[in-house]
Amino acid sequence: MNDDVVITPGMQQYIDKNNTYLAKRAKYIKNVVKKWKFDTIAVHGLYEVNEAIEDYQGAIIEPIFMSTSQAYRDSDEMAAALAYKIPTWCYSRIANPSTYYYEWTLALLEGYGFEGETSCCSTSSGMAAIMTAVQPFLVIKKDVCEPRNFVATSQCYGGTFQQFSIRLMQERNIECRWVTDATDIDEWAKKIDKNTRFLYGELPSNPQLGFFDIEKVADLAHAHSLPLIIDATIATPALLRPIRHGADIVVHSATKTLTTSGFGICGAVIARKNLVTNIDDDQLKADFSLHVKYLQNRDFGPNLHPMQAVMTLNDMRTLRSKVDLMSRNTMKVALFLKKHPKVESAQYLGLDDHPLHDLSSRYMWLVDAEHDEQYGKPVNRYGHLMSFCVKGGAEKTRVFFDGLNRIWRATDLGRIKSVATIPAISTHQQQGEEGRALAGIPPNMVRLCVGAEHPDDIIADLDQALAGVR
Ligand SMILES: *Cc1c(COP(=O)(O)O)cnc(C)c1O
Repeated sequence: MNDDVVITPGMQQYIDKNNTYLAKRAKYIKNVVKKWKFDTIAVHGLYEVNEAIEDYQGAIIEPIFMSTSQAYRDSDEMAAALAYKIPTWCYSRIANPSTYYYEWTLALLEGYGFEGETSCCSTSSGMAAIMTAVQPFLVIKKDVCEPRNFVATSQCYGGTFQQFSIRLMQERNIECRWVTDATDIDEWAKKIDKNTRFLYGELPSNPQLGFFDIEKVADLAHAHSLPLIIDATIATPALLRPIRHGADIVVHSATKTLTTSGFGICGAVIARKNLVTNIDDDQLKADFSLHVKYLQNRDFGPNLHPMQAVMTLNDMRTLRSKVDLMSRNTMKVALFLKKHPKVESAQYLGLDDHPLHDLSSRYMWLVDAEHDEQYGKPVNRYGHLMSFCVKGGAEKTRVFFDGLNRIWRATDLGRIKSVATIPAISTHQQQGEEGRALAGIPPNMVRLCVGAEHPDDIIADLDQALAGVR
């Protein structure tokens, strides 16, 4: 990465040795790992038995490296490492062996079924992942006052709305152009001009379940030499892998469904190699994740803790089957709520009268269902997020909400336990009435994330809480 460094013969020896290692790893990925099914990648990632025996005393689970830093054999190895001429972890703000395995598992899962290569940069949270992904495209190219803008779906997570509208727009004068109907490709197109730096979309969006045609928006972005960044937190790679459909970068709040247990906050940025951008930087284009990891994030410090990396890795091993179960449970709950007399409307992408049902059905598939004994054919799954509106307005919605016994009242999602919130008074409280109207959040909306309980018990809880509304 640092091309000004003078390479001594001693450094060269380390570089050669590591190039041999990198070539061996690339071959292993291409010939072995890329041929595995999704579940096998989720369980093993790049951590394998020979490496474990040689380097980690045979530990069958990825070790948690709490050490702040790495020691080197001599000055040559140190100089080569710090110039990023050899793979290194140096200091845990920059990299760490435990986060390395987390990153590779996510890069491979998001790249599942994709011909090209992907890489990942772990982050301390989903918000840090979003900042990490958008920041490199907002650099000043010519002059300090030049106008810069980006185009993003207005239906997005409340924290994303705050980051874009307050931190970027108000504080740094970088214009965020909100797309209010993301299915309207002309609306996207009209908002792009020569100062646009990237397109950004969340899908399905939290909590409104917005969706758009990824392939069309990716084509539009690329026609303008712009990258498309997708927040695919709600879908997870078990249901949707946007890079296969043309997206350049995927961001995750791994806090959510990827860490179903609810143990901790973490995030990830996964990018295709050789992405599209109008920023003139060859390293950034070639390997975006590595670039942000080694340079930008080294200097900003939004790194993931190694303990958290392994906790999340453990949760991800069973991602596919959990997302399948939680999706099926959500479908049952959605069908119940839709027919309930005290419910004004129920929104779930899996309901065939949802306006985005057909579009999302083209993209949301349970990975490897065709290889699953239980299904033996492609199967649509729509995730564990749904929402519904209680009849009678905000007050009655609170009465219903306070009556829940089994379902937890919390601003969380992706849990193995069912969780509900009222977005207008929680996740989307800060953006005010106008912001909520833009994002499509009515005051009587309840966001419900169905967990892995038996759905009959969740339905019974909803039923008794609705009975309390008079
Ligand atoms: C929660 C969430 C985020 C933010 O992630 P944190 O890990 O809480 O920082 C971003 N996007 C979506 C869709 C989310 O649900």
